[in-house]
Amino acid sequence: MKHHHPNPDLRPEFWNDIPLEQLTKPEWEALCDGCGRCCLLKLEDEDTGEIAFTNVACRLFDDKTCTCSQYALRKQLVAGCVVLTPENIELNAYWMPATCAYRLRFEGKKLFDWHPLISGTPDSVHEADISMQGKVLAEYEVDIDDLEDYVIEGFE
Ligand code: SF4
Ligand code: SF4
Repeated sequence: MKHHHPNPDLRPEFWNDIPLEQLTKPEWEALCDGCGRCCLLKLEDEDTGEIAFTNVACRLFDDKTCTCSQYALRKQLVAGCVVLTPENIELNAYWMPATCAYRLRFEGKKLFDWHPLISGTPDSVHEADISMQGKVLAEYEVDIDDLEDYVIEGFE
């Protein structure tokens, strides 16, 4: 059985009401639920601006750990990777997954009960079937021109 040890760097329930721009760096990082959905390749409809997620992940995404394999270097290695900050969340929230903790907080919504900060374990995001662990194809496995064939229906 896993036990949850509160991190002393984080204020209690900081994810509920504290505005994003007032979070400390450790709090900001802890807000990520570890779902990996933002690392999926996406298609944006030029006319409607609608975002379609595919089950093809960025080449640096490790679908076993469900994390970026080069997190510290991500921006240098993948030009299109967006390093989310309190300053740029407004510009980026629209393409983030609807379940993303940053997007939810930006929109003034509560986190879901499966969020590791609430459940106390990172396993809950996998158990709730939110994470992309073991569910993606790698970028090099598909022909990027056929990306439309990999759109996940009903996924936002
Ligand atoms: S979608 Fe949001 S919560 Fe999920 S991994 Fe990406 S940044 Fe973290
Ligand atoms: S570089 Fe890393 S964080 Fe950025 S999209 Fe790719 S896997 Fe995700």
